[in-house]
Amino acid sequence: MPLKILIVGAGVAGPALAILLQRADPLHHITVIERAPSLRASGLQLDFKAQGMPIMRKMGLLDAMRAHRVDETGAELVGAKGECLASYGIRGDAGTEGVNGGVTNELEIMRGDMVKVLVDASVADRRKLDESGVRGGGLKYVFGASVRGFAQKEGEGVDVTFQDGREERFDLVVGADGQNSRTRKMMFGEEVDREAFKELGSQVAYFNVPRGEGDGTLARIFFTARSRAILARNGGRPQTQVYLFSQTNMEKTKASYGKSLAEQKAVWRETFTGAGWETERFLEGMRTADDFYSHQLAQVKLPALYKGRVALLGDAGYCPSVLTGKGTTSAFIGAYVLAGELARQPSNVDAGLKAYNETMKEPVGLAQVIGGNMALPSSPLAVWFIRNGLWAVSSLRIDKLIMKLMPEQKEATGLETWPLPEYPELNLAE
Ligand SMILES: Cc1cc2nc3c(=O)[nH]c(=O)nc-3n(C[C@H](O)[C@H](O)[C@H](O)COP(=O)(O)OP(=O)(O)OC[C@H]3O[C@@H](n4cnc5c(N)ncnc54)[C@H](O)[C@@H]3O)c2cc1C
Repeated sequence: MPLKILIVGAGVAGPALAILLQRADPLHHITVIERAPSLRASGLQLDFKAQGMPIMRKMGLLDAMRAHRVDETGAELVGAKGECLASYGIRGDAGTEGVNGGVTNELEIMRGDMVKVLVDASVADRRKLDESGVRGGGLKYVFGASVRGFAQKEGEGVDVTFQDGREERFDLVVGADGQNSRTRKMMFGEEVDREAFKELGSQVAYFNVPRGEGDGTLARIFFTARSRAILARNGGRPQTQVYLFSQTNMEKTKASYGKSLAEQKAVWRETFTGAGWETERFLEGMRTADDFYSHQLAQVKLPALYKGRVALLGDAGYCPSVLTGKGTTSAFIGAYVLAGELARQPSNVDAGLKAYNETMKEPVGLAQVIGGNMALPSSPLAVWFIRNGLWAVSSLRIDKLIMKLMPEQKEATGLETWPLPEYPELNLAE
């Protein structure tokens, strides 16, 4: 049965779901709203792990994604003078461990490119349907829009009030509005939302700076005292991506979220000034960066991914955190399973949502395994130990030890062993 569906958030998960719903039933009426005034095609490198690649292949988007591939050849740990202390090779295939381990997966692309590929594909699919004479159904993106509130009517759907006061009834609302989802707060209330949001004790800031002389195709990682680390990745692009990780100045950093970008940047500058290596260059680049984005590392753990006819998808429902490196893959798994379960039971939305909730328990649990907290070294001695310890590790080619420092690399979580359900009802390529 064709449904009238509202998707909140045009990040990664929202447009992916729109594509899959539309493939399953061209007669669905799909509206995707995005709070930002235009597509937020910013952010740094994202990768596909485990089921990410197979889902892309099924969606017929693998080539389009590959066309934007970032050319990163591996990673190196650098010292204060930029000297290489240890290096790690590229992985053989997404989700499988390559020869050396490292921070690079087979397919990594910039978040902005990924979001554009997804939105463009959903719009192109719709155009094709319209041109082929399909009558009914539709897809539209509305920017600068958000939900003020909603009321659920049992058996009738969800009455949504938008920020501009407009009201509309939908059969299903899907919150794909990211880690700090407002849909989640509206569904479950402030208390459940607070309880579900598990802080991991680290902050991260992302931005691009102009490419410098030493920026090659290797990602470079620098640990410094007072629990700070910097990751710089160029991947053959005109700009270099900078990630600042910090476990210091926490209260001030947290208090800066929600304030202006200038105020957030000022706190990060204070935290990192004098950190060594190329920090000053990065901080200077941060001053004028127009894509600065910072947030606290957290996981979202909810008792259920839906309530009535409102469901949560991607980071909004089960953010595994950047530390796992599985946020994007989990978003795709969720979109695939949600669309698949709804398509499997086309005349029973409630049963579809229940099945989505059940099916997602295992992959969500596996994606959220971090394997210990990220402990950035706090004292100069600890930094020395890590730098020199890792140098020895690399020299002896016992690369697995780096996984102790980079929780993202702990692939033993098993997500890749979770069998992706098959949904022929989705009418996908494979
Ligand atoms: C600007 C940005 C940059 C990012 N950069 C990185 C990065 O460099 N590395 C990394 O690992 N992860 C990054 N992420 C997170 C990453 O995209 C997600 O972890 C993952 O891809 C899952 O995607 P998602 O669609 O669930 O959430 P997101 O990608 O966060 O998308 C959520 C979308 O919902 C929109 N939104 C939020 N609130 C509302 C609202 N109330 N109403 C309507 N729309 C709303 C947001 O503007 C956003 O477009 C970034 C996210 C954003 C928004």
